[in-house]
Amino acid sequence: MERPDWKGPLGAAFDHATTYLGGLPDRPVRPSASLEELRAALGGPLPAGPLPPERVVAELIAAAEPGIMASSSGRFFGFVVGGATPAALAADWLTSAWDQNAGLYVLGPAASVVEETAATWLLDVLGLPARASVGYVTGGQMANFTALAIAVREVLRRDGWDVDADGLWGAPRVRVIVGQGRHGTIDRALRHLGMGTNCVVPVAMDAQGRMVPEALAEALEGGRAIVCAQAGNVNTGAIDPLGAIADLCAAAGAWLHVDGAFGLWAAASPRMRPLLAGVERADSWSTDAHKWLNVPYDSGLVICAHPAAHRAAMGVRASYLQHAEGGERDQVDYNPEHSRRARGFAVYAAMRQLGRDGIAALVDRSCELARRFARRLSAGGAEILNEVVLNQVLVRLGSDDETRRALLALQGEGTTWMSGTTWNGSAAIRISVSNWSTDEDDVDRTVAAIEACRSRGVGNDGG
Ligand SMILES: *Cc1c(COP(=O)(O)O)cnc(C)c1O
Repeated sequence: MERPDWKGPLGAAFDHATTYLGGLPDRPVRPSASLEELRAALGGPLPAGPLPPERVVAELIAAAEPGIMASSSGRFFGFVVGGATPAALAADWLTSAWDQNAGLYVLGPAASVVEETAATWLLDVLGLPARASVGYVTGGQMANFTALAIAVREVLRRDGWDVDADGLWGAPRVRVIVGQGRHGTIDRALRHLGMGTNCVVPVAMDAQGRMVPEALAEALEGGRAIVCAQAGNVNTGAIDPLGAIADLCAAAGAWLHVDGAFGLWAAASPRMRPLLAGVERADSWSTDAHKWLNVPYDSGLVICAHPAAHRAAMGVRASYLQHAEGGERDQVDYNPEHSRRARGFAVYAAMRQLGRDGIAALVDRSCELARRFARRLSAGGAEILNEVVLNQVLVRLGSDDETRRALLALQGEGTTWMSGTTWNGSAAIRISVSNWSTDEDDVDRTVAAIEACRSRGVGNDGG
């Protein structure tokens, strides 16, 4: 067979990617194409015969580009979305070029060792126990799923029930105690695990969305439980009082899981770490690398203080698999996937590019810029609904209607893109500062755009 021309398609991708990334500060953040335009550009029948790879790439770029949301722009503040640091993005490209099956050590030794190393760095930076085990999953959703799978299996094993053999059919009930402000992925994980949402015991949260320890104490009296605390409420950024929660869980013998999809990274900053005091006492944690660490999608991390329970819950054995026998890391033992992408390369590269101080600075800078948003917006007459303790700001611009209209105008205007929510019954605009490249100028340009859209939103029909 003739050797394929790699430079053609990969060169086209490289040229487009560098042009795209270099143009991020100047392009509108929102996509420009409508659904109809995208369907027309990207639709049509599957070609009967092959096309030259370079042509496929060129046509994909031309057709998809108008439908790309510039979510790695420094002025994208929607949901909780990070960008990609240059080293992490390059490592992600290499991950595709190397195309390792990161399930077993024997299938990709470097992929395995990189995960081992990045895991050590991660535990150190986040202040978690050095002996904890780490699984590389697709995101916070699967990190919560994996942690809860380990938790329910282990909690029931301690009561003599074999989840591996018998599942949850007829098992003693395990209650899952959560704050009212939990993320929806907890409930979704419980559905996927066959535990169902009726096992959820919601306990009161305070005005910032933090779990109230007195309410937890009462709920724990009901017996066998998994407690899901949260570091970083998706609306307010608030962090549950983890020390008090850890005390209560220890006294009650409950499994403590901390969902820290973005908020766990606050522990990387010496200035912010006190907000998370006690976090190291949990049994399991979930976090994302694709949010605040600015690793490309998809990259989440599940961490467990009980490595044997972690491996027992996730592991797989088969006659044709060649398992490690000398202490090497077989990734299948730590995540629910079998074959998977070598996600560790990009996590490793992101952490190595930033270094310990760089990760702390990224966290501190994001929080400082969030406070800048709050200061400037409230000086202009906007209402800030939350205590800006982390990287999240909730803004209200007049009434519910005015706030929603201003948000729609803002999403269409293009300087920035952010999303909305309802907080304590009031419509609000959410600002999440999660991108490594965001600077003061991005914030100031965004504040000006918000103020312009606010005056447009007042008293008209929102055009
Ligand atoms: C984002 C988020 C999740 C879900 O993470 P994904 O990476 O989107 O799967 C879970 N919990 C919290 C608190 C989050 O902010």
